[in-house]
Amino acid sequence: MPNILTSRFLFGPGPSNCYPEAMAALAYPVLGHLDPVFIERLDRTCEGLRAVWGTSNARTLPLSATGSGGMEAAFVNSVSDGDVVVIAVNGLFGERMCEVARRCRATVVRVDHEWGQPVDAERVLSAHPNPKVIAAVHAETSVGVLSDIAALGAGKGDALLITDAVTSIGGLELRADDWGIDVGYAGTQKCLGVPPGLSPFTVSDHAFERRVKEPRSWYLDIGLLGGYVGAASGARTYHHTAPVAMIAGLEAALDRILAEGLDVVQARHHAAGTALQDGLQEMGLELFAAEGSRLPSLTTVKVPDGVSSAAVRSYLLENFSMEIGSGVGAYADRVWRIGMMGPNANPASVTLVLGALKEAIAKA
Ligand SMILES: *Cc1c(COP(=O)(O)O)cnc(C)c1O
Repeated sequence: MPNILTSRFLFGPGPSNCYPEAMAALAYPVLGHLDPVFIERLDRTCEGLRAVWGTSNARTLPLSATGSGGMEAAFVNSVSDGDVVVIAVNGLFGERMCEVARRCRATVVRVDHEWGQPVDAERVLSAHPNPKVIAAVHAETSVGVLSDIAALGAGKGDALLITDAVTSIGGLELRADDWGIDVGYAGTQKCLGVPPGLSPFTVSDHAFERRVKEPRSWYLDIGLLGGYVGAASGARTYHHTAPVAMIAGLEAALDRILAEGLDVVQARHHAAGTALQDGLQEMGLELFAAEGSRLPSLTTVKVPDGVSSAAVRSYLLENFSMEIGSGVGAYADRVWRIGMMGPNANPASVTLVLGALKEAIAKA
């Protein structure tokens, strides 16, 4: 067994390598969840989250849940019995939105796209005359595709726009307010470079006013969670014990990202993703996602004919302590997914993964 504590390099779409600042913060003494110092740090964390979301929403907080919990919170607070939800589906996470909305007893109008293609805003906007909610994934991790959320926001009319920003937050341009995002959820383990476990969440005042008043979840009820962070009045009410260590990790990563400069961090992700995609094509490999909509943070590449996807992935893990992801669904064995997220989004990672992949394809 390799020493996974010190040497594992994860390029995969899962928990990728984390910023050292975040890992160091996790090792500090754990504050009490009511300690005034912790409260101050929770406030700072929410402020940092506003910066990476591109929002001034008072209700912006780290939910005590993973990205999927954020997805559930977005829907359970926005829709209930019979509400019409138009959902753009261009990969696994759009599919999952449909299932979550169905369980909220919404009327789901799904707009399917071929996997590998970006969301077609025109088709989504004309799918129903007056939905309560329109929902889409900004960065579809299952297929490596980036979609134009601003186009949905511009044409949404009276609908609320729910956006999944799990694989864009902290790495790609994200402007929740300018783009018209009403409810957004994300995760910490992708470009934010923090271990999994929290879901950065934001909700506009308008969406808060139109929320489901007694959602079928107590824990994720945003009406109660606003009090948890004192979002509206500054007054806090006990809701649940804050995961203080995780929040310390998130705070440290946000500090690090904002100190480096959000635009610099975004440019770093963009450069790494583009260099990786160019390099893969130079090796003779074919990219999966449509040109012009390729995600810098997660690249999908077709497994060449005659090559075993699984053998290459285990070769990389065993010989380079490097994880790349398999494809999803019908593409499980036909596509690899290579993350360039957080601290991994740099030129050295690109060189390393290209060289390692070349060797693995030749030898596995
Ligand atoms: C990873 C991911 C999720 C789910 O997040 P978890 O933290 O695994 O619950 C949701 N949406 C997208 C686009 C993702 O990449």
